[in-house]
Amino acid sequence: MGFFTPTAYDAVPAVSPAYHDESPMPNHSHDLLVIGAGPAGYVAAIRAAQLGLNTAVVDKEPALGGTCLRVGCIPSKALLESSHKYEDALLHFKEHGISVDGVKLDLPTMLKRKDKVVKTLTGGVASLMKKNKVAVYHGTASFNADKSVTIGDDTVTAKHVLIATGSVPATIPGVDLADDRVDTSTEALDYQEVPEHLAVIGAGVIGLELGSVWRRLGAKVTVIEYLDRIFPGMDDELANAAMKTLKKQGIAFQLGCAVTGVKSGKDGVTISIKDKDDVKADRVLVAVGRRPNTEGLGLDQVGITPNRRGQIEVNERFETGVAGIFAVGDVVPGPMLAHKAEEEGIACVEMIATGHGHIDYNTVPGIVYTHPEIASVGKTEEQLKDEGIDYNKGSFPLIANGRARANNETDGFVKVLADAATDRVLGVHILADAAGDLIAECATAMAFGASSEDIARACHAHPTLSEAVKEAALGVAGRSIHI
Ligand code: NAD
Repeated sequence: MGFFTPTAYDAVPAVSPAYHDESPMPNHSHDLLVIGAGPAGYVAAIRAAQLGLNTAVVDKEPALGGTCLRVGCIPSKALLESSHKYEDALLHFKEHGISVDGVKLDLPTMLKRKDKVVKTLTGGVASLMKKNKVAVYHGTASFNADKSVTIGDDTVTAKHVLIATGSVPATIPGVDLADDRVDTSTEALDYQEVPEHLAVIGAGVIGLELGSVWRRLGAKVTVIEYLDRIFPGMDDELANAAMKTLKKQGIAFQLGCAVTGVKSGKDGVTISIKDKDDVKADRVLVAVGRRPNTEGLGLDQVGITPNRRGQIEVNERFETGVAGIFAVGDVVPGPMLAHKAEEEGIACVEMIATGHGHIDYNTVPGIVYTHPEIASVGKTEEQLKDEGIDYNKGSFPLIANGRARANNETDGFVKVLADAATDRVLGVHILADAAGDLIAECATAMAFGASSEDIARACHAHPTLSEAVKEAALGVAGRSIHI
């Protein structure tokens, strides 16, 4: 550990200076100490510094940015992009009249590019800390009974402590993550060769994003899922359409399969499934969810007891129940999403500094970066039915969108769900190339309480995929133009 003295800094070459000359000398006493420099923590720290709080952040990893930047969102998107380009060159360029012979995978270069992206961005976070005069400690933070925090040899005190320690991969009984052939998303971002057969346990976001990467690069991929569907919680129509597309691309699904154990041998792994045949593969990616990360934090010292799921319960002000200690991000209940964590971090420190802060959980989008992408915001049709809310629905297929045709990206649709009485948009679900970008308009519209007519009457540029959003919104009142 160590607060960043020049000597300590010299000893950690991979990280940009986190503490700089113009900053006041560290006195190990702050208005706010943020534990964890992931999207929840580092963003909260910047906002707190903007609001005038003497702020420090601590992380046990040398590189700042948390799971998202180091071993999550960013490296997986880098590989998704590279593998998509590879598959395009291999299979789809010819549809555009481009013939390329001898397309070859250069995996070391692909991995190196991914690592460089990560390094640039984590270095960027360190620079942001410096720019905002946020002090950075490196080491594992642990609470003492008096609410001070021990980091290595130092004891740090703060008026407010914000826990933003994120999450770690979960596993299931009979599956040992320490096994050499059993991987989490972290290892699956760094395979030095393409596995011949990759079995994925769990048809959630991680399983299908990383499953897509390795399938595109040449692996046979079998996804084994406990439920009889993929993407639990996602709108049924969207999840079913996504599964059809992923199957067409070559991913094999075994649904309704409860994995009971994994045995690793010299030549591969055997996955046992309750009442079904074993599956044999070269490697297994365990993608059955993540659990809150509170290990070593010394929560018991300050009287915080995680709930049954290991989460730290907080109220709407992110207070833990122990005065001066707050928590946000994956470590608290709610979807484990970087952008939700960022919003919580900002709202929390704004409440601390100004008394006011805001987050609208109804408009937190969810995106799966497969190809096409899958994006949702608001309620699913199933939720609306369960809640007895009358709704109207407008749907528009990408095949009827000019730009999608021009791009040869015609798989998918946009579905807008609006309240039958008020026309207020309650949910939007998209399967499309760039759905992750298209959903931003919908989330913004919903944040402003837009009706489907508001979206439909806004001028959308032609020719763009966003016209499919407009057309789906028009469709709520049966007024779509192009179908
Ligand atoms: P997930 O919760 O999305 O999916 C886990 C899947 O594993 C579920 O479908 C579940 O039914 C299945 N499962 C559980 N036990 C099983 C068993 N014994 N046998 C077979 N299947 C079993 O979890 P994940 O994909 O690991 O992702 C973890 C978290 O990270 C999620 O909260 C996710 O939202 C987040 N994440 C988000 C993104 C993104 O936003 N693009 C990307 C990666 C991860």
